[in-house]
Amino acid sequence: MPGKIRFAPSPTGYLHEGHLLSALYVWAAAKKWNLSIHLRIEDHDQSRARPEYIRSIYEDLEWFGFEYDSDSIQSNRKPVYEAALEKLKREGLVYPCYCSRKQLEAENPKSATGEIVYSGKCLHAAEAHAADAPHNLRVIVPDETIHWHDLRLGDFDENPKKQCGDFPIRDRDGQWTYQFAVCVDDIDESITHVVRGEDILSSTARQIALMRMLGRETPPAYLHHPLIVDTAGKKLSKRELAHSLRQDREAGLSRETLLGRVCFKAGLAASPAPIGLADAIYLIYQIL
Ligand code: GLU
Ligand code: ZN
Repeated sequence: MPGKIRFAPSPTGYLHEGHLLSALYVWAAAKKWNLSIHLRIEDHDQSRARPEYIRSIYEDLEWFGFEYDSDSIQSNRKPVYEAALEKLKREGLVYPCYCSRKQLEAENPKSATGEIVYSGKCLHAAEAHAADAPHNLRVIVPDETIHWHDLRLGDFDENPKKQCGDFPIRDRDGQWTYQFAVCVDDIDESITHVVRGEDILSSTARQIALMRMLGRETPPAYLHHPLIVDTAGKKLSKRELAHSLRQDREAGLSRETLLGRVCFKAGLAASPAPIGLADAIYLIYQIL
């Protein structure tokens, strides 16, 4: 059976150079490993997603010439998430957490990367709270090491219980979390390959753990690509990331100019000379 890869932007802003680099990686991987391409609009957080950002994702991809085989949008898939939540609940793997953000900060240790490691304080707290008291839903993470392999970065052994503890699958406002929605979708949409930026590296072990709980034993193959850095080698600033591809194209820059610039910034090309889409994809194809 041929595999399937996804490009999964969140419509919480316009696409920027970081997304463009991710798209190039996804399309290069699809070519290399003969995968079909799925576009997933990750609007799991309805408080942050906006229709103009969704429209713009489609327009930007079309303008660059990125073609895909199928697409989906998370806000249309409520029953799928409900069913996955019910499955976890039936297995006794979900509990409400009543801790405020302040409490979470004050009461829990942090991991080496500065992430809060939730203690599990509310595991048996449901009776002590009114049913309508604000709460998120957390999944009980097994205390075990997940061994996984990144196609670029090699082997990882990580224990999500120690990285983050039991983590939220639905937030206080009733929005599905990224971790939950992405796992449900990667299963339900039969995704075999996940190619995405290194900024998400620390989520992978917990996603593999959650997918197992949801019934998928064999996780997708993963590749986390390097992020664009500025000339001083630092991560792009919020301001730089807020600079959208859309602004550039409305300012009259050509797609070849934008592709050349992003390939240069990613260290894929020696100069920012304009480059076509197929050639940009081929630069990555060669290093996969
Ligand atoms: N929606 C995420 C983002 O825009 C990507 C999630 C993923 O690829 O797993 O950063
Ligand atoms: Zn709690």
